[in-house]
Amino acid sequence: MPTMINLTINGEKIAAPEGTSVLQAARQAGIFIPTLCDYEALEPEGTCRLCIVELSGSIRPCIRVSCIQEVKEGLVVETETERIIKNRRLILELLLGRSPYCRELLDLAGKCGVMTSRFLTGEDDDCIRCGRCVRVCRDKIGAYALCWVNRGYNRKVATDFERLSEYCIGCGSCAQVCPTGAIKMEDRGNQRRIYTWGQVVARFELEKCEKCGRYFAPRKYIDWMRRKAFKPKGIELIDLICPECLRKTERPAPAKVPFGNGAFPAW
Ligand code: SF4
Repeated sequence: MPTMINLTINGEKIAAPEGTSVLQAARQAGIFIPTLCDYEALEPEGTCRLCIVELSGSIRPCIRVSCIQEVKEGLVVETETERIIKNRRLILELLLGRSPYCRELLDLAGKCGVMTSRFLTGEDDDCIRCGRCVRVCRDKIGAYALCWVNRGYNRKVATDFERLSEYCIGCGSCAQVCPTGAIKMEDRGNQRRIYTWGQVVARFELEKCEKCGRYFAPRKYIDWMRRKAFKPKGIELIDLICPECLRKTERPAPAKVPFGNGAFPAW
């Protein structure tokens, strides 16, 4: 049984397991804290800063990012003080300045009472710099194909030297976690392309399913699955079958299975 930590959020007494973030504890209690960079399957990094809260009680009064702040005994959390609302609206206005038509951002801004931005730049950029793509590529896939480049206003996600990436394996995880569609994966015929802001960052030939003949995954990704996902479990992949065909067939015996046992949906 995990040790339970007692804290107060917006005047409500809450008990949360040790190691939980303030953001998670608030969610469990049904308290809304806005965020753009948080994604359940990824470690939090506090990139967007929208989940700021005011803390006091067992620690010195301060403003902290709630997704990377662990709960502490006696902590007092306020999520909607005048100072927090003001700072959060400023962050939203700054984000809207560059991405004024981004649906996710507009929805969240609306919820926080921000209708327009004083900082419009004339740009129309879908990327809101949440960093989910960089984190999934680095922490979950281990490919390190995407990284942050530049600083401050010019900060953006790119491949090494902004060229076609030799490290990308074409898994599409970055496109899957991107909240705005700034990163896209496109399969056309036997080709897969990964785009950021309309620019191709990686390009692959797809392998054919041995049953239905459909092109379904790049060789690099298949090799990655063999090495990282199946080998450690003692499973040997003996042929190439797409997830759809596999679902139609009987589940094979463990230890020797066709490629793609449905454990990883993003081909
Ligand atoms: S498709 Fe390429 S860039 Fe995107 S997560 Fe996979 S390896 Fe990284």
